Amino acid sequence: MRKKVVAGNWKMNTTPAEGVELLKGVAALKGDVCSCVNFIVIPPFTHLSEIVKNAKGTGIAVGAQNCAAEAKGAYTGEVSAKMIASLGVEYVILGHSERREYYGETSATLNKKMVQAYENNLIPIYCVGEKLEERENGKYFDVVRAQIEEVVFNLTPEQFSKLIIAYEPVWAIGTGKTATAEQAQEIHAFIRKVLAEKFGDAAANTVILYGGSCKPSNAAELFAKEDVDGGLIGGAALVASDFIGIGKGF
Ligand code: PGA
Repeated sequence: MRKKVVAGNWKMNTTPAEGVELLKGVAALKGDVCSCVNFIVIPPFTHLSEIVKNAKGTGIAVGAQNCAAEAKGAYTGEVSAKMIASLGVEYVILGHSERREYYGETSATLNKKMVQAYENNLIPIYCVGEKLEERENGKYFDVVRAQIEEVVFNLTPEQFSKLIIAYEPVWAIGTGKTATAEQAQEIHAFIRKVLAEKFGDAAANTVILYGGSCKPSNAAELFAKEDVDGGLIGGAALVASDFIGIGKGF
């Protein structure tokens, strides 16, 4: 049985105080959700310390949205994996489409970030997903395969056993347009097949999340699919009752 995960990517939203309130809201409602669901909140860097403190004892894990490609040194404005891990953070999102698109993150950068994450015992949530034109011209399998082969295939089997993957079609992120459960299942199964080419049976244990306008009203249908193990949630993670409502999709 694979883990069921609902992760909330807060992106560049909330002040630290608002973030703590949001976390408390999620913690207060969490009892309504199957205890089989693993919740992760992923606030901005500035909140991590406070959120980790406040998450203690709630069963809610904490992640960061990014980490530096380098270990330390003269990299103004960057935050290292070691700094993040030292706060008690357990996860880090790598390769989100917004980072690929607006900050030019390539597979070369992401390989370095992966090294940093694993060296510091952070579990990467590695994002893949195609753009609208790639969906429409049928190239999405090739795009997603390349995003996996160029980065995930460089992991050791031991590293791979911890990895979480998030499939997030760019055309569904923040657009209100969700992939259908059938579209999600098709590509999640494909991702698992590609992973199995390199890692064999271990791919059967990889947690693969769906992301892109996931909300309480569509979560159950998506999560019912065999290869969809939960969600990476943006907008709906900013409202405690919606985030919890998605958890109820299990
Ligand atoms: P969304 O974002 O749920 O707002 O579409 C998902 C994500 O980017 O992780």
